[in-house]
Amino acid sequence: MKTVALFGATGSIGGSALDVIARHGDRFRVGALSANHNVDALAELCARHDPDLAVITDPTLEGALAAALRSRGLKTRMAAGDGALEHAARDSGTDIVIAAIVGAAGLRSTLGAARAGKRLLLANKESAVMAGPLLRGALAQGGGELIPIDSEHNALFQCLPSRHDASAMRGVRKLWLTASGGPFRGRTRAQLEHITPDQACAHPNWRMGRKISVDSATLMNKGLEVIEAQVLFGMDADAIEVVVHPQSVVHSLVEYADGSFLAQLGQPDMRTAIAHALAWPERIEAGVAALDPRTLSLQFESPDADTFRCLTLARHALGAGGDSPALLNAANEVAVAAFLEGALPFLGIPEVIEAVLNELPPEPVVDVGTLLERDLTARRAAQRMIREKVKRQP
Ligand code: NAD
Ligand code: MG
Repeated sequence: MKTVALFGATGSIGGSALDVIARHGDRFRVGALSANHNVDALAELCARHDPDLAVITDPTLEGALAAALRSRGLKTRMAAGDGALEHAARDSGTDIVIAAIVGAAGLRSTLGAARAGKRLLLANKESAVMAGPLLRGALAQGGGELIPIDSEHNALFQCLPSRHDASAMRGVRKLWLTASGGPFRGRTRAQLEHITPDQACAHPNWRMGRKISVDSATLMNKGLEVIEAQVLFGMDADAIEVVVHPQSVVHSLVEYADGSFLAQLGQPDMRTAIAHALAWPERIEAGVAALDPRTLSLQFESPDADTFRCLTLARHALGAGGDSPALLNAANEVAVAAFLEGALPFLGIPEVIEAVLNELPPEPVVDVGTLLERDLTARRAAQRMIREKVKRQP
């Protein structure tokens, strides 16, 4: 029996993970669940999954969570604040940590889970993007294993040699990340001028949280994933290709020196990647309908990097090195939040990110404290640029 700590339990990945876990009550149990502010949703999940611990990361909501648990007759142990997550990861009873918090807010708990030396299922791609060297260091220190559950990276994990060391990786020529192209594939810049948040969040193939949905619409999601792949698998950036595949059935491909391509196929349903990573190296049922290969008709095309500039900006940040990917991520989080609030047009997202990267030259990544200060500097710069943009509007 493996005990799972799930950070970001009330989100889209959190829901998929709990669905898989609940199908396998004989193999997995829930040790800890966390949410940021939705105390009722967290208390409901406690009623359904009976964890040992419920963590509310916003410390001002501890009393509200206590009341929500009490009103349901639950005696679940409680903790508040970000630090409680690191504690839960280190708990000797925890075997698996699922990092499913969205954004830079997941950085400390993801690094804490990596240092704890458990099996880490990584959905929180922003922490890999921001802090690649720190994440690699924390994994080496903890001696645990990371299995990506971002569908593309999980596909790559499945198709790469079982050891990722230098000699095994020498035969890998390229990684091919697939992208659906998002809801605006094929549109021109002019057609993107008046996009609303709801249009941007209406992804054709995947149901996800709003931040990653906007990232998919701008192609920043694929940009973040190029950086994530570089961090997780140690490939050169120019050996990581992006190919648009509108059906989202091929989740990524590995190209080998002998001309072989290995791909992983499946429904666009995160439960496949989550089930794979939970049970690896075994395979378990995930509740996902089988694919019928006879019905498939698969297309692949180049991304339109001129219209969707976020992909190019992410590659520039990766090339610039140091903490540039963290600055890119911070500016993107601020710009996406402003877009979702109606304070920035869709096409303003890459403009803000580019301006922040131009203003802040990269510095080396040394430790998490310094990195979070730089994250804050980039956020303030992005907020200032958005305010200036709004003022300039007629
Ligand atoms: P979501 O918005 O649905 O859920 C986010 C979760 O994070 C919630 O449980 C919320 O309580 C928690 N959270 C938000 N802000 C927080 C804060 N400041 N402190 C602590 N917790 C906080 O997001 P999601 O779509 O589930 O995505 C989660 C992560 O997984 C993201 O990094 C995303 O890029 C990645 N991911 C998601 C999918 C998907 O299908 N949804 C696919 C691949 C990767
Ligand atoms: Mg993905």
